[in-house]
Amino acid sequence: MIKSLKTNDRHNPLGIEENVRFSFVADSGDSFKFFLLGEDRQTLLFTRNVSLEEAFGFPIDYKLKAGVRYFWKVDDSELSSFLLAEKLDAPFISPKENLTHPVLFKDFLAKDVKEATLYITGLGFYRAFINGNRVGKDYLTPGLNDYHSYLRYQTYDVKELLRLHNRLEVVLGEGMYKGRMGFDNHPGNIYGDDYVLAAKLVITHNDDSKEEIKTDESWKAHPSSFTFSTIYDGEIRDETIDTSVVSPVKLSDKKFNLVPQFGPTITEHELLKPTLIKTPKGENVLDFGQNMVGFARFICREEKGKLIHLQYGEILQGGNFYRDNLRSAKAELFYKSDGKERSVDAFFTFYGFRYVKVEGMKEVDPDDFTGVVLHTDLDPTLKFSSSSRQLNQLLHNAYWGQKGNFLDVPTDCPQRDERLGWTGDAQVFAKTACMNMNCKLFYKKFLLDLRADQTRFYKGFLPAYSPSLEGSARAGGAAWADAGTIIPLRLYEEYGDLALLGENYPLMKDYVDALIKNDEEALHNSHLVNNIFTFGDWLAMDGMSSQSLKGGTDDTFISSIYYMHSLSLLSKAGKALGKEVDAKKYAALSEEVRKAIVKEYVSPNGRLALDTQTSYILALHFNLIENKAKLIECLKARLAKDSFKMKSGFVGTPLALATLMDNGLEEDAYRMLFSKECPGWMFAVDHGATTIWERWNSVYEDGTISGTSMNSLNHYAYGSVAEAIYTRIAGLRNLGHAYKEVLIAPVLNYRLKEISLDYESVRGSYHVSYHIRKDNTFSMKVVIPHGCLAHISLPNKEKDSELDVKEGTYTYEYPLTKDFIHPFSMYSNFIDILSCPQAISAMGKQPIFLCLARGNEDFKILSPFLLTQMGYLPVSLAQAEEVDAELRKVEA
Ligand code: BGC
Repeated sequence: MIKSLKTNDRHNPLGIEENVRFSFVADSGDSFKFFLLGEDRQTLLFTRNVSLEEAFGFPIDYKLKAGVRYFWKVDDSELSSFLLAEKLDAPFISPKENLTHPVLFKDFLAKDVKEATLYITGLGFYRAFINGNRVGKDYLTPGLNDYHSYLRYQTYDVKELLRLHNRLEVVLGEGMYKGRMGFDNHPGNIYGDDYVLAAKLVITHNDDSKEEIKTDESWKAHPSSFTFSTIYDGEIRDETIDTSVVSPVKLSDKKFNLVPQFGPTITEHELLKPTLIKTPKGENVLDFGQNMVGFARFICREEKGKLIHLQYGEILQGGNFYRDNLRSAKAELFYKSDGKERSVDAFFTFYGFRYVKVEGMKEVDPDDFTGVVLHTDLDPTLKFSSSSRQLNQLLHNAYWGQKGNFLDVPTDCPQRDERLGWTGDAQVFAKTACMNMNCKLFYKKFLLDLRADQTRFYKGFLPAYSPSLEGSARAGGAAWADAGTIIPLRLYEEYGDLALLGENYPLMKDYVDALIKNDEEALHNSHLVNNIFTFGDWLAMDGMSSQSLKGGTDDTFISSIYYMHSLSLLSKAGKALGKEVDAKKYAALSEEVRKAIVKEYVSPNGRLALDTQTSYILALHFNLIENKAKLIECLKARLAKDSFKMKSGFVGTPLALATLMDNGLEEDAYRMLFSKECPGWMFAVDHGATTIWERWNSVYEDGTISGTSMNSLNHYAYGSVAEAIYTRIAGLRNLGHAYKEVLIAPVLNYRLKEISLDYESVRGSYHVSYHIRKDNTFSMKVVIPHGCLAHISLPNKEKDSELDVKEGTYTYEYPLTKDFIHPFSMYSNFIDILSCPQAISAMGKQPIFLCLARGNEDFKILSPFLLTQMGYLPVSLAQAEEVDAELRKVEA
């Protein structure tokens, strides 16, 4: 079967850019026939053969016309369609009078309409209506980017909205263009201080004649009910305003680089129904049950003049409404009713919230409210379930973190006065994101934004967030700016698009060359980057205090490691693109940097001069030295000293679990993953989190928020742990080129008896599921899509555990060499014993062990056996053997 037909990576897109590429997924066959058909779906315009290898992206040698709808299919597949955008060759107009949030409109007649296509854009944000009906389903158009670099316009099929007499109306808001936005309380007017609109409506009549209605001076303006909007603060809307006063428009002298919408837009997704809470303070608060991003739609039934006030927050404190962690973001709506019953939506803002405080309504009926979830419309590509409720919730939280922070820009958080495309956050989450959803076009746009910033403001370097709001972001530094090398290569590995890698090569190269220049000119080729700011191991728990911003890992080490890494990524990209000279040059320099780091930080016997979780993780993950034994030994000791709690921050955490599992520390990795103590992932899960928190300790044990200066409850960075869960625990690893070849090597543990993962790669669907049965036998099923190859490493199997298989469905059943049903013994770590109620009761015969372990933090990381070896404790080997017999009976 042929499925998933896409044009420029989208399903049946309207208004796409040139350089059209087609893709599809086939579950059999090696060569296929592509057919391009005309508007009538029948006339054959072009045909070509397509090989399986080309199926995930190929061009055609046919001159396509803009504004024409084409159809295509492969063999006897279903038809897919697309329309190449016409140029939006209409002038920009603005209201002549000083109106806030104006409506610009045009009245016109339409007869004998065969087709009607609207090309449109407006700034800050725009929303269009024809005869009172909404045009399209997109939110926050035309999106968020550096408008001086490019401005996207959208295309809509509006035939169904037209009548004989028509009014096209467009209401304009502030958005990022002119509203307040920015880390440092930017006052606004970042990209402009006006409202502008350009539109072209193309009507094709039944006799095929065409008519165009463009923005010009014949349009008119009138006020809207909006008197205020910003992304951070929300909206003020007054329906009692007299909006009938018509005023003229003028031609704007603004020029923009207009490009057709080249990726998915922000659309509406889940609709959540709330429950009503009466708080101790007597407030009416709606609980949507999920930290979500979007807005609360409600039906207003209030009499004329009544003012409704909604405020959005993420957490209750003492059972009452709370929003201090949103900092200066007001995140509210004031809505004055005109007495007409209507459904009220947000137009020019979005909120990150779980709770909404409602004031000004006679009666708050939760049925009148709906939480509308907004995010960029990306295809979900992954399904995961497991026997662990906590693990499922953790992945749910990471997934909702992605939803809430993928509104055209990969943001750090969606609620406070920030909501910016922080490059470090984006980089660490990119792999998880690309497995959860097809993010190719989303990141393609982000990389375009990075490139724009790089060339306009940063002289080769890259900002801490992008769009940088006209250069107002500081330079990103290590692990943040490296988004510019990490994400392009990530996209190439995930989606295999060499052309896209080529487009991003200048971004990668200019960044790396800027680092090299710094090395040569300021560091005298020492290769140890100690002169560029980095946020370092941000929010790690081994900093000076539990609220410290930076962790304890040396910045120069982090910066030099990322310098080495970016050099190596550029070399890989060069190699893929056939730029052999570059590939060699950058690989050689990367090796030089590695040697310099080793000389500075590694002893001759392989001991690292730094002793933090993150420094070991980086050294191991980036293969700093070949003989890793000493590093692993020291990391193990470090983890024990840290009571197997997560001490790493934004740099170490995303790599932690996979690195531990790749280096034989899977027991420790699982222990840390499942630890319910803070700092650890399951602490938040256990405390009711429905998204990932910004800090390990965002909320204390008793439910109090730990601080308000920088504390979001929907920050996806630590959600990047999903990557290790998919690739190590479920065990599906891409070996390079868009999943043509994979490694399937699950890492088992007694805490997880069942797992199932489906991943829809661009070449087809992979499936991995397994089950550890009560008799300690193992069954695993894998499905490999057409044309792909899997190296399977069957876990804990006595012999013949390595095999290579091609496409197909395979099942394996065998007895496990390690007992995952009875995992406990006197050699078990007390942390593990104490996290299992049956194991605790098994210790009942010799309660002294538990007394010791509970009474002293230092003993918790030991086992009953090790306590007997301390010499000074009142426990004997014989006592340990007694509990050993009981522990071995425990079924976990
Ligand atoms: C953001 C982060 C970001 C950081 C820079 C914060 O304000 O929310 O996620 O990466 O600043 O280190």
